[in-house]
Amino acid sequence: LEEFKRVRVRSFKEVYALVDEKMRSITDKSVGARRLVGDEKIRRVLTAKLRVSCETVREELERVEEAVSLVKSMGEFYAKLFELYTRLDLDALLGKLRRSRRLVGRIEEDYASRLRSAGTRREAVASFREGLGRCLSLYKRLNRDVVRVKQGVAELAKMPSVKGDYVVVIAGMPQVGKSTLLSKLTRAKPEIGMFPFTTKTIIVGHWESEYGTVVFVDTPGILDRPVDEMNEIELKAVYAVKYLADAAIYVFDANPNSYYSLEQQLKTYSTVRSLLGDKPVIAVLNKVDVLREDELEKLARELGEKIPGELVRVSALKELNLDYLKKVVLEKLTAGKRPP
Ligand code: GDP
Repeated sequence: LEEFKRVRVRSFKEVYALVDEKMRSITDKSVGARRLVGDEKIRRVLTAKLRVSCETVREELERVEEAVSLVKSMGEFYAKLFELYTRLDLDALLGKLRRSRRLVGRIEEDYASRLRSAGTRREAVASFREGLGRCLSLYKRLNRDVVRVKQGVAELAKMPSVKGDYVVVIAGMPQVGKSTLLSKLTRAKPEIGMFPFTTKTIIVGHWESEYGTVVFVDTPGILDRPVDEMNEIELKAVYAVKYLADAAIYVFDANPNSYYSLEQQLKTYSTVRSLLGDKPVIAVLNKVDVLREDELEKLARELGEKIPGELVRVSALKELNLDYLKKVVLEKLTAGKRPP
């Protein structure tokens, strides 16, 4: 994601300004035409201006291509997220960019040869203008897409890296203890960034397990409500998480005074469960420290009947049973394989 910070995609306006600047720097002297006279001199200068303009447009198209390829190379999560928000089809765009780049090359050669054979000064100027116009308009036609790429890349650059061997998303309603859990499962201080295209934060922590790096991700405001309460932007974020996660931990709050009822928590659980498809969702009952043994048994039984699989009881705050939770996470992620 550091690479996204270095990407520099230019809008049509910026490219136009750049072309203008480069053309201005071309003089009789710079193209070795000082000694030439009349039409010959003009042809030489105009050809140089045309070539530098086309070359610039080509280079800038290439930059956009590189940015798009970079997004694609980052994996399905980033690519999907990017496509959802920019409403671009990355493969189709790459095709368009490549075709335009080849076309610029042809325009350059075509108009350079017209300039060479121009009989009069007027003809030369007309050919130059036409060639330049065609070349710039190729970029202009792509500008809407280019601007979206530019904005999209800037958004991705705000995100902390989720690079690792496995990604586990921590889901659950607000206040159930997700961020406490994340900080206790990972050693280093969690990194905080922005979830792209939203005003929501994303919190990332890494755990070096014997199977490789497991990245835990907490996205407050994204996986903490039933989908039918979400707006379009939030839905897109949720949809993208599906491609990010190899598994999810769903946190239930055992506190009887918790802000959300068990029904509400179960509803959001169903959302997360269906979102993850056939990927594992590990159900966790947090804050077990606030209950008496018999209360806990009762709650765990009640909840256990409503969800498939094991319910792992922990206290994130008191660090109870977290090693066991980690063991379960690894088992689910690696499906019982041996460590490498
Ligand atoms: P999030 O909104 O899901 O990220 O929840 P937080 O991690 O911010 O926790 C919400 C509140 O619950 C905080 O006051 C935490 O200290 C508290 N909390 C988290 N885990 C536990 C736990 O295991 N036991 C108790 N008693 N409180 C907890």
